[in-house]
Amino acid sequence: MRLRNVTGSREVIAACDYVIHNPQECRGKWHEVFGNDCPIRIEIGMGKGRFIMDLARMNPQINYVGIEKYSSVLIRGIQKLEADPLPNLYFIRMEAEEITSVFAQGEADRIYLNFSDPWPKDRHAKRRLPSREFLRRYDEILVADGVIEFKTDNHDLFQFALEELEPAGWKILQMTEDLHHNAQMMEGNVMTEYEERFSSKGNPICKYVIVRSRDAAD
Ligand code: SAH
Repeated sequence: MRLRNVTGSREVIAACDYVIHNPQECRGKWHEVFGNDCPIRIEIGMGKGRFIMDLARMNPQINYVGIEKYSSVLIRGIQKLEADPLPNLYFIRMEAEEITSVFAQGEADRIYLNFSDPWPKDRHAKRRLPSREFLRRYDEILVADGVIEFKTDNHDLFQFALEELEPAGWKILQMTEDLHHNAQMMEGNVMTEYEERFSSKGNPICKYVIVRSRDAAD
């Protein structure tokens, strides 16, 4: 994500009702926050938020939380949400490493990772959102049959993500290295901003859908 310094974005975010300002206080209480018992799904690294806003609009019976680290990026999502409010969507400005202090075990049933930063240097592998370190954090907040969906056009990151699955206790439900030519996995696909940009350049999009391997019914 290109980082432009948007003047006053922290102040705008602080005043915004669609942003959860003290997310740790919601831990274990997310259903109260939404005021219903509908499932809760999280996008980590939502960027400008188009994907999660489209999902929230299409699925009013599901609650969504979009997480983004940078105010200057999140503000773009806030501006869109203010123009078109959605009762089943909140944003949080936070570093994803803190996710287990914001969600309790079983509070979410799905996590979306879309076009996560690749962190190409080996010594930064732990910062990659599909790394085993992050998979352990997701394990702590998802329901037993919880699902993670990951899309990227970065082959190295995708290969890394695949290698992380077994050691972290996850298994593939669905996988493709060319999503846009896979009719089955394209069904219901919601494009992200990055996906539109990179697929229009001709980059194939990789995607996996994973669940915990210990829940295997085999
Ligand atoms: N999901 C969007 C944006 C992809 S760019 C899309 O597909 O269009 C990746 C985004 O993730 C950036 O906005 C970046 O700031 C955010 N991000 C990266 N690492 C993060 C972290 N550890 N915690 C929260 N957000 C993060």
